[in-house]
Amino acid sequence: MTGPAGGPGRTVIIDNVYIAPVAGPEIESGYIRIEGDRIAALGAGRAPEPGGPGVQRIDGTGCLATPGLVNTHHHLYQWASQGLAQDATLFEWLVASYQVWAAMDAEVVKGAAAAGLGYLALSGCTLSSDHHYVFPSGRGDLFAAEIEAARELGIRFHPARGSMDRGHSQGGLPPDVVVEDRETILAATAEAIDAYHDPSFSSKLRIAVAPCSPFSVTAELMTGAAELARAKGVRLHTHLAESLDEDEHCVEAFGVRPVDYMEKLGWLGSDVWFAHTVHLSDGDIDKLAATGTGAAHCPSSNGRLGAGIARVSEMLRRGANVGIGVDGNASSELTTLAGEMRQALLFQRAAYGPTALTARQALEMATLGGARNLGRENELGSLEPGKLADLALWRVDGSFASAVTDPVCQLVFATRQPPLARLLVGGETVVEDDELRTVDQDASGRAGAEAHRRLMRLAREQGFSVAKEVHR
Ligand SMILES: [Zn+2]
Repeated sequence: MTGPAGGPGRTVIIDNVYIAPVAGPEIESGYIRIEGDRIAALGAGRAPEPGGPGVQRIDGTGCLATPGLVNTHHHLYQWASQGLAQDATLFEWLVASYQVWAAMDAEVVKGAAAAGLGYLALSGCTLSSDHHYVFPSGRGDLFAAEIEAARELGIRFHPARGSMDRGHSQGGLPPDVVVEDRETILAATAEAIDAYHDPSFSSKLRIAVAPCSPFSVTAELMTGAAELARAKGVRLHTHLAESLDEDEHCVEAFGVRPVDYMEKLGWLGSDVWFAHTVHLSDGDIDKLAATGTGAAHCPSSNGRLGAGIARVSEMLRRGANVGIGVDGNASSELTTLAGEMRQALLFQRAAYGPTALTARQALEMATLGGARNLGRENELGSLEPGKLADLALWRVDGSFASAVTDPVCQLVFATRQPPLARLLVGGETVVEDDELRTVDQDASGRAGAEAHRRLMRLAREQGFSVAKEVHR
């Protein structure tokens, strides 16, 4: 399997491959034909057209084809602040991290995003969202920096312009130094949408509006953000019901629990997805299901912070949409997106028994569930004719792995993900044989390490003591 694939007007045929389309039955040995950036056809057996000049063939022997994975919650800048406050609760970890994040600049964000997005692509991700909510003033264009990194890599990107306006002096958790005022936030968010949002079918860049959380944002910003997003036709995102501390905070400050608070603010709807949703009652789940509000399940991050685990199997049973997210690397460390399918599966089974979640449900959450969260279920998230050719080819015939006859089992249950033979985004190769092909992979890794060193140096210059913050 060599040479570039895809491109406008080109035809790519993947032959002799096991296909798990997510929508529709699996095909043990079949073909996928790609025309330009879309899937033109797929089926059992050999591709009907023999091909010809200008047609590129990819031998899929020994491979499993799945839709590209969709990451529905992340904070890319956190690549630069991994390993801090390792034994802390969410609130303790945030309080420690805010001081570091206050020092970031555009150069830190660019390097962190190059590493974080490259790492995602290497675990099968073709579309990632990001939630950037810390904008220290005078530090360059942080939002533009991450968009540039995604463009260079070539994966689809849905960055959310995040925000915090409720600092410590107003009863919020973050120090006042990392919050902005409401007018500045709404103006900057509108500007980001106008500058970047592409609503087209093939879009590689869409913007969402994402005030950070109930404990760092005022009710006025929440409602202002919802009005802005709906006026512009973009999606809404925030953290919700992540920890019991948040639950208590909402009851104390607003007199209601998190989902009821969102309902009061007009924040339930099919244009909204929440990160985490760990602490939900049956009634809360029913409200999400009835309104089409989505959830991004981030099991490693929830586990790392000891926050609890979302009732994903019950959410699916009650008809709520659930996607997967790796969450920022500062709370999930080096978590891969493919690995989060396994984490989701095992946490549900540990809590609720062996039938709580199947490997195929985990794969569906990581693909079509994610596409629904991001409003793109008509365009991607499953392998179907007419959809975008975003797909991963996993090599499942390795010497140890070949004893496993079910390739989906191998992908979801294994601790180590199968080698990624190809990652196509709109038919174009981004990864081949476990290597990034659109950018220099080693340089991306180095950029992430340099972003970490730079952020720590900038934080120390502002009086932050790194050594004290590793364990607390
Ligand atoms: Zn988060």
